[in-house]
This record gives sequence, C-alpha cells and structure tokens, in this order.
Amino acid sequence: MFIVTDLCFCEYTDHGHCGILDPKTQTVDNDKTLEISAQQALVHARAGADMIAPSGMMDGIIHTLRTALDENGFENLPIMAYSTKFASAYYGPFRDVAESTPSFGDRRTYQMNPANRLEALEESLQDEKEGADILMVKPALAFMDVIRDIRNESNLPICAYNVSGEYAMLKHAGAAGLIDYERVMIETLTGFKRAGADLIITYHAKEACELLNKK
Ligand SMILES: [Zn+2]
Repeated sequence: MFIVTDLCFCEYTDHGHCGILDPKTQTVDNDKTLEISAQQALVHARAGADMIAPSGMMDGIIHTLRTALDENGFENLPIMAYSTKFASAYYGPFRDVAESTPSFGDRRTYQMNPANRLEALEESLQDEKEGADILMVKPALAFMDVIRDIRNESNLPICAYNVSGEYAMLKHAGAAGLIDYERVMIETLTGFKRAGADLIITYHAKEACELLNKK
C-alpha cells in the first residue's frame, strides 16, 4: 500500500479552521500555521507516510514543507499540493460527517473564489515553483476547465479531487431512479481524465474498479 497523509489542523481544532487563529481578526494566522505544519509533516514522515498532502492551503506551505523535509533527511518524500482548492459548497456531506464546518466564519480567506479562473491557474503554478510533485484541482466536476488550464501549463501529474457533494448527487440521483448510476459515474470519471487528470481521488473508487475489472 502507498500511504498518502492529509496534513491539516481542522480535524483537531474546536473552531474547525485549518490552523492557528489570529485573536484579533479571528482568521487563520498563515505564518504561525506554517510553523506547526512543518512539525506535522515531520511527524507524518517519521511515521512512514509515502507522500504528504497538505490540504489546508496556507500561502507558502509547499516551500515550508519541502524545506523541513529536506533538512530532516526526507528529500525523497513527495508532496501532493492541494494547489487549486476552491471555497465550495460541494464539500457539504463530508463536513457534516467530519464535523469540520468552522464554528464561525468560513474558509474563504485561504480557499479560492470559484469564479476566478486565472487565480486558479496561478495558485497551482506557484506550488510547482515551490517544489510540489503533484498538483490538484478540488472539487473536480464544476472545474474541468481549470484542470485543462493547468494541464496545458504544467508537466506535473494532476490530481482531480471528486468530493463528497459530487459523489452524493450521483448516488441520490441513482437511488431515485433518475439516472443510470454506473454509466454516469464512468462518464464523470472519464471526463476528469479527458480534462487532463492523471490521478482521481473519488468515493466512487471501489465501485469504478469493480466495474472496470468486469469489462
Ligand atoms: Zn483543514
């Protein structure tokens, strides 16, 4: 098994935000969060992670982690950047299960505006410059043009993150008899590939594998 660890703090904070809060502004203090992110990366590395995937998306996180890993003997440990991560309503089902909805405010200070195509590209290219080994677009379904934009500008592998709300829509529509679930699932996953994704993270993974193995 190849183990990829999700590096973030929102699962461990009572306020649900992805790092240390600035008491004055009640928003995440980017630089303080970078410091503890480097510590968390070393914990993951020493525990045996094969790849580290920082999901919190602080500015400069890739550079910070790359430096910390290199300085501590983990030069060969790859980083998958959540390089283009939108502030999206598609995360809804996961947040409910993980109870990770912030208790106040939202993540819009460090996640991206879904309307901003150029920023979406720029954020990923910035992470490539900082040393990312894999780039990502999250969510995937409403952002296929962004996957293609990045594909055209970078030679790194690109991961499409097919999130819980995207999965739930297909599941519920299938259960209601509105769509042919299996065909729509494969069509959706194929769309990610066509857009330029090399990797797909999806809740459909097991079902898709079973289906593809049958054929
Ligand atoms: Zn987080």
